Amino acid sequence: MGIERIEVYRVSLKYREPFRIALGTSTQSENIVVKITTDFKAEGWGEASPSFRITGETPETVIETIDKIGPKMIGMCPFRMEVIGEVMDGLVEGNSSAKAAIDTAIFDIVGKKSRKPIFKLFGGYRNEVFTDITLSIKTPKQMVKDAVKAVRRGFKALKVKVGVSPQQDVERVEKIREAVGSEIAIRTDANQGWNVRQAIDIIRKLESCNVELVEQPVKAEDIKGLARVRKNSSIPIMADESVHSPEDAIQAIRAEAVDLINIKLMKTGGIWKAMKTAAIAEAGKIPCMVGCMGESNLGITAATHFAAAVKNIQYADLDSDILLLDKLVRRGGAKVKDSKRILPRKSGLGITTLDSKLLGKPVKVYK
Ligand code: MG
Repeated sequence: MGIERIEVYRVSLKYREPFRIALGTSTQSENIVVKITTDFKAEGWGEASPSFRITGETPETVIETIDKIGPKMIGMCPFRMEVIGEVMDGLVEGNSSAKAAIDTAIFDIVGKKSRKPIFKLFGGYRNEVFTDITLSIKTPKQMVKDAVKAVRRGFKALKVKVGVSPQQDVERVEKIREAVGSEIAIRTDANQGWNVRQAIDIIRKLESCNVELVEQPVKAEDIKGLARVRKNSSIPIMADESVHSPEDAIQAIRAEAVDLINIKLMKTGGIWKAMKTAAIAEAGKIPCMVGCMGESNLGITAATHFAAAVKNIQYADLDSDILLLDKLVRRGGAKVKDSKRILPRKSGLGITTLDSKLLGKPVKVYK
């Protein structure tokens, strides 16, 4: 019982509008899709959404990585995830989003073969996942408009992107809080945009805005700085870019630098290691969020299964597919309603049809 064939596709998905965070602006998401077929009639799909600024990956490096891993996967049993992980890590270091694509396809196969949705096979903690929606950086006035629109659409939590100008950042959050009232959760994400002193100062000013958490206030590698910000903050501090792997998680927890950790499949290398990261965080009494990069509904559905499966995932920011104009998934996948992501009752990921035009022809095939 083994993997028979791997196809690699390159897809380009347009955003509804330019998506701006402190690290830069994106107009489209360049993703890699993997299809794995087996000799027992189950096939699986997975997606990589590489972010050069965060994992150092590009669509080209993802293809190069799969070029090294793909041929070695042929004949392997998809149920042996520890072995698959060992082989992938042994062949290539890092390149986590490329590995996430393969990992997701493997989970899809395991779920289909077991006739269970992925989340029910690996924990089954909850049936639906509460998500926020992200507000891209604009002028405070425009962000208020976007916030009101999102609340009207049913979202009960907003992730406000900040980190570009300390004064305006405070204004952004204050004005949004004023406009949406006290019932809506507001989370902020600075994407490393502040220095330690700025972060402490801004967070103090945000105290009156009832902010749920502040994500990645300072540079990813500045764990000491993150700990200093946390020590001086009354708002919980979440690490995102600072924590990619289970190893990073334990370091950040030991350094007392985090109250919360944002886990992303694109940083961990897929669901298997995301589960390990969440378990380490749980042992350190650190609740987690599951976030995303620029995944279509394919990658988002995988992340939703992970979030639904694991008790320690207490927050979700699973919205990139909503921000994208192009829809790769045509049938199936995680739906969104009133701030909830709802999983299909089908086995595996529960995705039945992908848009063949967006998918195009495979750029690589291994068999
Ligand atoms: Mg973030």
